[in-house]
Amino acid sequence: MDKLTKYKSIRDKSKTSEPFGDEKPDSSKLYFVVQKHRATALHYDFRLEYCGVMASWAIPKGPTLDPAVRRLAMQTEDHPLDYRHFEGTIPQGEYGGGEVIIWDSGMYIAEGEIAKGVRVKVKVKSEAEKVIEQGLKKGEIKFYLEGKRLKGSFALVKTKGFPPGKKNAWLLIKHRDKFVKEGFDAAEFTTSVVSDKKLV
Ligand code: MN
Repeated sequence: MDKLTKYKSIRDKSKTSEPFGDEKPDSSKLYFVVQKHRATALHYDFRLEYCGVMASWAIPKGPTLDPAVRRLAMQTEDHPLDYRHFEGTIPQGEYGGGEVIIWDSGMYIAEGEIAKGVRVKVKVKSEAEKVIEQGLKKGEIKFYLEGKRLKGSFALVKTKGFPPGKKNAWLLIKHRDKFVKEGFDAAEFTTSVVSDKKLV
């Protein structure tokens, strides 16, 4: 099944300026983006490229560089690759209506775990995508972000039975490395990393 079937089914091309998927993947690089999105509730959309689309999670409190904090991340439908460039306003009344800015973006490297706590970077894109695809099915992925605000190693881990009744709940966790910042709060950053747009 087309990974974007759900994405396309809940949006009306004639009403929203969101992308519908024309970008061809780069041959060697993998990209991530974090979009700050003021819809019904303010949240941060965290997206990681794999197999030609962006796997996506909505993080109500935003990502953090503080390893003591585990952020709830609700998995949402895969988005087109070119969504990583999107900022602007989704019309009110449409799915996700509200303002979007690019809060962080960059490349990322998938990580494998060769022994408990021993991570290795998977640098070949085709292998990295397999690692991510399998991890998504298994409910645990690890990756190294090279963003402007988010850097270093993280994990996304699917929860079991928490919060009650929520099937798509994951936790975003910062691994301990030189990029740790205790008390890091996404809300302190209100600007786009690619334009002069601002979203408080
Ligand atoms: Mn969103």
